[in-house]
Formats: sequence, C-alpha cells, structure tokens
Amino acid sequence: MSTQKISEDIRDDVSADVIIVGAGVSGTSTLLRLLEEQRTGATGTDRLRVAVIDRSDDMFTGLPYGSRSGGASLIVTSLDEFLPDGIRQDFIAWLEARKERILAADASLGISPHWAEEHAEEIRGGQWDSLFIPRRLFGHFLRGRVEDILASTSDVEVIRITGEASALRRMGTAARAGAAARADGGADAGAEGGIEILVAAQGALPGNATADGGIRSAADGTDDARRGMTRVRGRSVVLAVGSPPTRMLGHDPANAGSGRFLDDTHVHGMDHLLQEARAAIRAMPEGASRDILVVGANADALELLHATVRAGLERAWDHHVTILATHGIPDAWTVHPDRRSEYRSRHLADYAARTPDAKLTARAVYDAVVRDVDDAMASGFCEQDTVDELKELCSQLLERLPAPEQKLYVDVYGTKVGRFARPTGGDYQRTASELLESGRVHAERGHFEHAENSAAGWRVTTSTEEGISTLERTFGVIINCAGFENVAETRDGFLRSLQDESGLRSSTSRTGFEVDEHFQAAPGVFVAGPLLAGNLNSALRVWHLESCRRILAMADTIGAEIAAHLRATELEPV
Ligand SMILES: Cc1cc2nc3c(=O)[nH]c(=O)nc-3n(C[C@H](O)[C@H](O)[C@H](O)COP(=O)(O)OP(=O)(O)OC[C@H]3O[C@@H](n4cnc5c(N)ncnc54)[C@H](O)[C@@H]3O)c2cc1C
Repeated sequence: MSTQKISEDIRDDVSADVIIVGAGVSGTSTLLRLLEEQRTGATGTDRLRVAVIDRSDDMFTGLPYGSRSGGASLIVTSLDEFLPDGIRQDFIAWLEARKERILAADASLGISPHWAEEHAEEIRGGQWDSLFIPRRLFGHFLRGRVEDILASTSDVEVIRITGEASALRRMGTAARAGAAARADGGADAGAEGGIEILVAAQGALPGNATADGGIRSAADGTDDARRGMTRVRGRSVVLAVGSPPTRMLGHDPANAGSGRFLDDTHVHGMDHLLQEARAAIRAMPEGASRDILVVGANADALELLHATVRAGLERAWDHHVTILATHGIPDAWTVHPDRRSEYRSRHLADYAARTPDAKLTARAVYDAVVRDVDDAMASGFCEQDTVDELKELCSQLLERLPAPEQKLYVDVYGTKVGRFARPTGGDYQRTASELLESGRVHAERGHFEHAENSAAGWRVTTSTEEGISTLERTFGVIINCAGFENVAETRDGFLRSLQDESGLRSSTSRTGFEVDEHFQAAPGVFVAGPLLAGNLNSALRVWHLESCRRILAMADTIGAEIAAHLRATELEPV
C-alpha cells in the first residue's frame, strides 16, 4: 500500500480502477469487500488498483472511530448489537489478544483509563459482548484488518491519498488522451465513461474555508480554484464521505458580545471541543454568564456530557448546563431500574389487525406508535419498555404498506418513529441519568430559533407549539449538537458540487443521494453509508443509515455491485 499526500508526494495525476472517497467505516468496508471480490476473481481484473481519498490522516477509521473521536467516546450500543456476527467474533478475538494493554489503558490505544478501570472485571472475564466499547478500539481493529489483508495480497494496489475531494467529472475525449499518455503503469481509466475526482491538498481550497478544513464554499467549482488540483481517475467511484456537516444554528457571529458559539462537535473531535468550552468559560468577563447551553439531545449531546464527566470538568462547574431539545430529553437518557417486559401494544396492534393492506398508511402507523407510547407512560411503563414490541410491529407493517406509503415511510415517518427507539443503556445513559437527577444538568423543551450575543452572554429565542419565547438564562457558551444538514441544503463544497455540477440528485427526503438498485447515483458512481438515506427500490429501503452494523452489511452488496461494474466496463473500447 502506498501513501501519498496531495501536493507533497503527488505531482502527477493518478489512475485506478476504483476510487473510494472517504476512508471511514463505509469506504473501508467496501474496500474490504472489493479485496474479497478480487481474491475470488470476480472483478475480472488481474491487478486491482484502488485509490482511497480522505481529507484526514485518520485513514480506515473514519470520524467516529479514530483520533477525531474522544478517548472517552464509546459505542452507543453494547458490542453484541454493534457488529454483525462474523466481524464481531474477529473483533472480540482482537480484543482478547490485547486484553492486558486494554486493562492498562496503553497510551497507544488512546482510550480512557476510567473505562478500563470501571470494566476491569468484564474485560478479564471476556464479557465483551455486553460492553459499550471505546470507539477507538474498533478503529484500530479496522485499520489493522485492512493492513493485514493488503500485506498478504499481491494482486491489489491501494493508493492512499490525503486530500480534499472537491469535484467529480466524467472524462471526455481530451481527458482520455491525457489518461492514455500517463506513464504510471496503473489501471486504464481512459475508457469512455471514466470518472475523475479533483483533489486538493488539505486546507488548500479557497472560498469560505474554515480552520477545520471541512467546509468549502460552492464557489470552489471555478476553474481558477481547480488549477493545480490532482486528478484521480477511475472506472468506478464510491462516495463514502459520511454525513454532511453539522446543521448551522441561527446566531449573529458579528455581534460584539462575550459569548462563544461552538458550532461543530465533529471536525476536531470531542477532546478539542471540551478544551474550547473550558477556555471559553474561563475567558468570560466578570459579571457575564458562565452557563452552558447544549442544543440537541442526540447521541452527540449524550457523548458530550459523558466526556465532560470523564474529564472531571463537571466537578469544576460552578455554572449551570442546560440541554435544549425540540422534543425534550429522550427517555433513553434515563436509567429505569424497574424495567417491565410485559408491555403489549394496543393501538398499533389493533391497527395492524383490523386494517386491510391496501388501506394502511404511513401516517397512521406513526400516530398509533405515538398513542401507544403515551398510553404506556400513563400506565407506568417507560418508553424503553415499548421499543421491542413496537419495532417488531412497525417492521411487519412496513412490509404490508402500499408502495407510495412505503415511500412516505422512508421519506418522513421512519425517522419520526425512530425517535422512540434510540439505543439505550450503558455508561452514557448512567452519566446522563445521574446529571439530570442531581440537577447539575437541566432540560428545556423547545426548538432553537436564534441567539443574540450581548455583554452578559447569549440570549436564546426558542419556539414550541405554544409560541416563541426567550430562555430565562443567559449563556456564556452554546454548543451545537443539532445534528446533520440535509444533503440538498448542505454547505459542504464536494456534496454541493456533486449536485450542482455533476447532476447527482438528492433523494426525496433530501437526506441522501438518490440511487438505483445497484447503489449507483450515476453510471459508475456508487454511494455507501449515511448518504443512502431516503432510498426505496428493490434493493434498498433506507430512511436512515447511521448504524455501523447496517453499514457493514450493506458494504457487502455494494462491493459485489462494483465488481460487476468492473467486469462490465473492462470490455469497453478505449
Ligand atoms: C460521533 C459519532 C458516533 C457514532 N457512534 C456510533 C455507534 O456507537 N454505533 C453505531 O452503530 N454507529 C455510530 N455512529 C454512526 C455510524 O457508525 C457512522 O455514521 C459511520 O461512521 C459512518 O461511516 P462513514 O464511513 O460513512 O462516515 P465517516 O466515518 O464520517 O467517514 C467519512 C470519511 O470521509 C472523509 N471525507 C468527507 N468528505 C471528504 C472530502 N470531500 N474529501 C476527502 N475526504 C472526505 C472524512 O474525513 C471521513 O474520514 C456514529 C457516528 C458519529 C458521527
């Protein structure tokens, strides 16, 4: 495997059979499947050349499982739910082989010593399946797996390219002539229909580039901006770039107030975010608010609270932390010691039993779920007691919904129903439950509308069904955990360019790219990972694709589809 950094190592263009943009779980698992396809001869290529492009040096781990996550960041389910069987057993064997290093929280693993200490007994007893594992351990495992397989393979070359993919172009005749003239001896990407990805060095793009290197303006698509970029050419491309950036929240950065707005939990990772929050609080002038507002009650917010406690920061808090969430704090944040297993649905079960298939609607399924959950709470159950039963009924009903209603479920109601079935349990839940119970964290229900920065800190306007109001407290720091942008409205330069210049269409839910049953958004352009959201066809029914388990399972099909595409394009005339 060769490693190249755009601008430092790569001066000439690169050719490959397959280009994978994004080296997270989606790109890496697709690569692993492709290597398997090559081993069985299914690619039709004697020597497979794959270019893997990522803007981060954190290759083959992606955003959640490498150095961009925090040392205290854990998977949000227990391990038995996190991975499908085969790879889970391999991962457990990997963990067992490193047991002593994990128990000692060996610095090279980058995990929190607290975790190893707290779970020493389970680790010693090999009870991995029930643990909420540090995410970085999975990243180490995944990268090791790629390196091991490549070390024992002679008919594959993987070129790792660190740089920012900024545009995708279909190669024309001129480009083909250039490709044919190249002297790198690599795969011939010059066939009609070949594709090129323009790649810039990290941080080299102009426009509204931020220090994080992550977000670029749509104006990057000008020829001037592209001069000097490296062209990576291939017969197929896999778009595995993860989710779009965090959704921006309305605030006026130009306001000359004292508050700080921390807008992206992911770009530099959790440890960096905590440092920034701490520094911002310390820098608040005398008399100004030192309170913190976290916007959103999703997994990011949960992780933030846990990391804060792990870093011992909350003990130093003489200030207040508020969580603002449109639907309030999810039940999944609370430990219920007296969980009950005898819950049975009334409304959804009744709807399923008495409605003929042709009359079923997505909206009615959702309404029945809401009524069931309300009833359950009123009868002394907790939301978490209802999850298994309601999930099972929903998946049966989904099979029976008429086609247009299935589409509506995929576009709208699947995500809404998913709000009642969040992963629960484990270390994060215990932390959040304790913080809420002790009053150290306070919950506000409402939708963030806008924040005004003043000398005293941020004044925040919110909305609920009852109308618009301003939160009583003023905040020194606001941390944005509001979730991802829609693909259709994203600020990300590459995702913009794919839609505005390359003609890729967002799915009707606007959360991903529309693909066909071969996972192609355009001929030879495959999509993997969260950007498959909003697709319904004979191979796919996805309203949301954030679970690692499902991403890994889907990568097998995508890898096989790419192999089929390689076989089909090999015979095309040059
Ligand atoms: C913080 C966090 C925690 C999560 N925890 C869990 C969990 O516990 N369990 C679970 O099942 N799922 C979890 N998920 C969900 C799921 O596992 C992830 O969404 C998954 O990592 C997606 O993998 P990916 O490879 O598609 O995206 P990513 O991991 O985001 O990888 C995409 C890669 O593409 C690169 N990239 C993006 N744009 C460009 C560009 N223009 N040029 C070059 N490179 C680019 C990025 O640098 C990144 O490395 C979590 C997600 C997040 C964000």
